[in-house]
Amino acid sequence: MKYIGTSGGRFSMIRQLRSTGGLWFRYGGVQGVIDPGPGSLAHICAARPALEIASADVVMLTHKHIDHSTDVNVVVEGITHGGFDPRGILVAPDDALRGSDPVVLKYTQKRILKTKIPEEGGTIDLGSGVAVEPVIHLHHGVDCFGYIFRKEGLNCWGIISDSRMMPYFRQRYSSCAFLSINATFPDKKPRLDHISIAEARELLSKIHPKTAVLTHLGAMLTSGECAGCLKDLDTPETKVVPATDGMVVDLDSFKVYEQRACGQNPEYAEL
Ligand SMILES: [Zn+2]
Repeated sequence: MKYIGTSGGRFSMIRQLRSTGGLWFRYGGVQGVIDPGPGSLAHICAARPALEIASADVVMLTHKHIDHSTDVNVVVEGITHGGFDPRGILVAPDDALRGSDPVVLKYTQKRILKTKIPEEGGTIDLGSGVAVEPVIHLHHGVDCFGYIFRKEGLNCWGIISDSRMMPYFRQRYSSCAFLSINATFPDKKPRLDHISIAEARELLSKIHPKTAVLTHLGAMLTSGECAGCLKDLDTPETKVVPATDGMVVDLDSFKVYEQRACGQNPEYAEL
């Protein structure tokens, strides 16, 4: 999987200190985009090695906030080959699709072949034997879900999106060998429904996946107070890496590769 963007939250988004493109995954014969925020399609089209939006099978939203969802309509346009080929799966919470202010346009909803609404306790079939389990989150009044990906014979992995740290995450994510966690602040802020680095490391020290990446690094990118808080993050049994744009995680070996240069021939270095 590849981090198209690693920003999050309004201030790092509006200044585009980093991209807000979400992530691209390829797993068990299925590929797709999760949380395509502003600039996602542009960065997908510019990615090297190339990523083909026309070959993506699925687009998933964890929630409707604009730093996670603005490009969902153009990504569906790509998946459906300009709307001419009914194909693809859209996974999005109910309030991203219905009501008076859906972020997925009704026009777009007609074009994608299948739409699946995540529910706690349910399973979503992405085809090719890949199953996704939604995990309900608590995030400032919107419907929000993390996702756990499973396929027989492959490593299980998951994402924790924007959320207050919930006590059941420890049990729900315990089988994930790789975890991507949205961590927005260094230390816990009780009035905000976001996970801090301190809380993420506490969770990791209990469920100890092989590798974890912290992303959605909002305040970490805009506040001088946060300098240094993205260093020495490993827990005793988990390699913990702060995400950078273009970073690649091999979901078989769990090796992490940082993109060191942009352009036609970027270099990748193993961390
Ligand atoms: Zn959010």
